[in-house]
Amino acid sequence: MTRTVSVGVEDDRYVPDHGDHSFDVTRYDLQLDYSVDSNRLSGRAMLSATALDDIDEIKLDLYRLRVSKVSVDGSPAKHTHRKSKLVIQPRSPIATGSTFTVVVSYAGSPQPMPGLDGDAGWEELADGVIVASQPHGAPSWFPCNDRPSNKATYAIEITAPSNYLVVANGVQESKRRRSAGTTWRHVEEAPMATYLATVQIGRYGVVDSGSSVPIRTVHPAGKKAASGGPFARQDDMMTAFVRLFGPYPFAAYTAVITDDALDIPLEAQGLAVFGSNFATDDWDSERLVAHELAHQWFGNSVTLTSWRDIWLHEGFACYAEWLWSEESGRQAAEHHAQLHWDRLSELDQDFQLGDPGPELMFDDRVYKRGALLLHALRTQVGDDRFFEVLRAWTERYAHGSVTTDDFIALTGELCGASVGGLFDAWLREISLPALTP
Ligand SMILES: [Zn+2]
Repeated sequence: MTRTVSVGVEDDRYVPDHGDHSFDVTRYDLQLDYSVDSNRLSGRAMLSATALDDIDEIKLDLYRLRVSKVSVDGSPAKHTHRKSKLVIQPRSPIATGSTFTVVVSYAGSPQPMPGLDGDAGWEELADGVIVASQPHGAPSWFPCNDRPSNKATYAIEITAPSNYLVVANGVQESKRRRSAGTTWRHVEEAPMATYLATVQIGRYGVVDSGSSVPIRTVHPAGKKAASGGPFARQDDMMTAFVRLFGPYPFAAYTAVITDDALDIPLEAQGLAVFGSNFATDDWDSERLVAHELAHQWFGNSVTLTSWRDIWLHEGFACYAEWLWSEESGRQAAEHHAQLHWDRLSELDQDFQLGDPGPELMFDDRVYKRGALLLHALRTQVGDDRFFEVLRAWTERYAHGSVTTDDFIALTGELCGASVGGLFDAWLREISLPALTP
């Protein structure tokens, strides 16, 4: 795992007051109970951590849920919980480099957490739950060190009513039916950022497919047709993306289709969530199914260190849509690039792609300009070099944390220093550069 410690040690202004840089959580063990009818969540989170600094207070992020008990290394610890910060006093200071364990017992009615870009996190559906935490919603359901640069492994155990299906990240290790409900245990052994941790609960059925990588489509029970349409093409997308981007980074891939309509699809590690409104046979749905799959390489395995580098996720996933168009025998990426350059050139140019600001973080212009940068790079260096860069990127930084400078450095290494001017124009300047120099 590659870690950049020199960047992002300050508070991330895109998600103010989230995360702490004095320690890294290495594993989350969550044991949760959930009542769908009353939206009541209760449980216990065990965090294993390493001190990166001398610590006399451990600060975790937790929104609204009430904490009943905290211990550090097995001893009860004093704590305060104000404004989504759980501040814990260990009995004695923890020295740099030491490992420690925090156990938090908590309960309440989880709600999406507000942030500069809107609400995110645990949310009730008409009949079930969706957890979509990007970028700041993880504290809505478990106490965490909520910064994307702190990746950890997870065990997520959750007991829910037996007539519901539970999906979480990683591999389903066990499923035990009891009188109080069914307990599902999922384990994610690939390092994961907090915002990518998820639980999906609903009355779902499953369809398994996938020739090289296991692909599961989870659909509203009794509506198997919902798993057709663009979802039936995921196996072909997987084959194309493995060839273009390198090996699929996780054990399996799951697409969850909720019975509710959703504004946008949402990515999590090893899975993505779509509203039933995306189960349609048109290009707009299909490009988004390809987009979310591409996030497994760009965003979930290779993850930004701070949110200002969002183009490293969204620009790449958007470009993957155009690549899928090309691969599936539709228009070439060049066609999409020209079309979207023309459209963008009609819109306001009032942000820097390399630091668009929290309000524009998920603005479509950021997505498209990021994809256009990649197309401009491909045009300049040629297909062989371009795809070599993409595969080197996903291999060198697999399951790691990155910055834009890491991508520029890698590109310079493989394509020569002359590409530097292209990045300046697309990332730092406000005006829209020409598509070909
Ligand atoms: Zn995206």
